[in-house]
Amino acid sequence: MRCDIAILGGGPAGACIAGLLAPGGRCRIVVLDRPVKTDGKDDGRALALTHGSKQILKKAGLWAHLKPEVCPIHRVRVFDGTSSCALTLDREDLGKSAEALGWTVPAGTLLCAARTCLENLAAQNALTYLNDFDAQDMPACTDDESVRRIGAADGRTIEAALVIAADGRNSLARRKALIPARKWTYGREAVVARITHTAPHNFTAIEHFRASGPLAVLPMTDAKDGTHRSTVVLTIDPRKNKVPLDRQIRALVPDFYGDAHLLPGAPPPISWPLGHLHAYRYTAPRLALIADAAHGLHPAAAQGLNLGLRDAATLAELLLSDDGGQRNDVLQILKAYDRARRADNTLTAGATDSLVRIFGTGSPLVRLARRAGLRLLAASPAARRHLIRRATGAMSQKR
Ligand SMILES: Cc1cc2nc3c(=O)[nH]c(=O)nc-3n(C[C@H](O)[C@H](O)[C@H](O)COP(=O)(O)OP(=O)(O)OC[C@H]3O[C@@H](n4cnc5c(N)ncnc54)[C@H](O)[C@@H]3O)c2cc1C
Repeated sequence: MRCDIAILGGGPAGACIAGLLAPGGRCRIVVLDRPVKTDGKDDGRALALTHGSKQILKKAGLWAHLKPEVCPIHRVRVFDGTSSCALTLDREDLGKSAEALGWTVPAGTLLCAARTCLENLAAQNALTYLNDFDAQDMPACTDDESVRRIGAADGRTIEAALVIAADGRNSLARRKALIPARKWTYGREAVVARITHTAPHNFTAIEHFRASGPLAVLPMTDAKDGTHRSTVVLTIDPRKNKVPLDRQIRALVPDFYGDAHLLPGAPPPISWPLGHLHAYRYTAPRLALIADAAHGLHPAAAQGLNLGLRDAATLAELLLSDDGGQRNDVLQILKAYDRARRADNTLTAGATDSLVRIFGTGSPLVRLARRAGLRLLAASPAARRHLIRRATGAMSQKR
């Protein structure tokens, strides 16, 4: 099969760029994804999304499918180890009329929305959606060639003028194009579990930086029967962590949640190895990497998908301002895309890594400095406003 644009990966980033490019039918798009192995594929995570991401997801047609499960974040409380000094970031720091600092949505709901969106676009003949395509091969390609090929395990081949790789952190496209990446592991795992608590969360998110790694508590919508729910992301050293999770949750979740426990009937807690990856280039001949295929971050700052959606929006804008990838200046578009996304991705990836390291160190000097920093921020509304606008994408909303 031949097409103008092949999007490899129908996860949140792949579906988002498909939703941005397909309406209008300016080019032939094929979205390729592996067959789904489990129903709904709810892995227990709640993803925190910024103002900017909400706008992109709205434009791509995904936000409407998320609505019942979207929970606003009104307040973020940051704790540093055992220090009594906590930093509170409030939506009112953005102004009296601010709707929220951001939103959370269950990862399973986002994935279902991605699939529904792709199925709807396919039903409208705006694209072709092959959700049984397990890509195994992508031969090297030179600037002279007019297409890039993707081969599936079952022998099918797709030829595309441009391949957009949204195939996740272990991207086949990145590896086959021999694009090197800076990467390391943190020697820790994130355990994600859904909890229930007797007191309402009041739309508060917690980030508690502990010596063994951060603990995050993200608010979720109440269950239909009124049960209060949140998601916990607990960083552990798998070699040392022997205490049962439910006991750790009771000990670590702050008192204002009341009595907190693992949520009965929720997806079983899943562990994610924590690492950092950033591709040196986002492009190769007739190939663009977006989202986790280009960069994978520690989840402490909840920025991974937010960055990925900005990749998708930027690339879509460049392609739509051209001829949907049909003209021969794909090379210029790819260059412009790499240039446009480099600074934001490098800054956010660097800031996330620094955050993990600065708050993870046991050095008394660094501890003193960061606590002084937190106190300064707590005392300065202008500095808090700036920090919130940077972290939540509220700046771009104002433009
Ligand atoms: C514990 C944890 C918490 C997180 N919390 C947040 C948060 O709060 N906020 C945030 O912004 N980010 C968060 N992230 C990051 C976020 O989950 C990722 O950035 C996001 O899921 C990446 O989306 P993606 O579409 O690029 O990749 P993926 O979600 O990995 O999707 C890749 C798609 O490609 C398909 N695919 C892969 N290989 C092939 C192949 N060979 N053939 C066919 N199809 C293929 C897969 O089937 C899949 O559908 C978190 C991550 C973790 C681990």
